[in-house]
Amino acid sequence: MSETQLRRLATEPLGPNYIPSLQQTTPQILWIGCSDDNFKECTMLNILDDELLVLTNIGNMIIDGDLSCDITIEHAVVDLQVKHILVCGHYGCRIVKATARDGLKGPWLSKLNALHLAHEDINQLPVSERDRAFVELNILDQMHSLRRLPQVANAIALGRLRIHEIVYDPETEKAYRLSEGQQNP
Ligand SMILES: [Zn+2]
Repeated sequence: MSETQLRRLATEPLGPNYIPSLQQTTPQILWIGCSDDNFKECTMLNILDDELLVLTNIGNMIIDGDLSCDITIEHAVVDLQVKHILVCGHYGCRIVKATARDGLKGPWLSKLNALHLAHEDINQLPVSERDRAFVELNILDQMHSLRRLPQVANAIALGRLRIHEIVYDPETEKAYRLSEGQQNP
């Protein structure tokens, strides 16, 4: 994958009403984000606090066997029947930097290392670009894990759930939708 292709993943800035507020007190969105992203999700989306259910962990990861993750997603999709799940990572995330991964353990470390191994060509990029590319790849990898969960796959098949892959850039203070496989000229 070339640098140009990698940078094209983040092409579509989120508008102020990307997901319109329903002005209701029941959640319509499950947000899966990173523990160190330092922004307020509701402000970014311009929705009410009550419209959002938030799940965060280090690196916005969806790990097989993570009970907290499993139960939250099950509750959101089956009980609350949310209409959207947003998987949001952020540039500058320390946990996806190869140099900051040494302290990680278990499935977090093995999943990130496996992803990096599958995309070793990003090591040819300058360090800052490599780290940004890896943030994007990690978001897409978690999105793929999410789509494989039976309750999520079922809700998507029924047309009542959409998945969104989002990256936040703290330098521009804007979020972008990743467009995997839609690399415009
Ligand atoms: Zn982070």
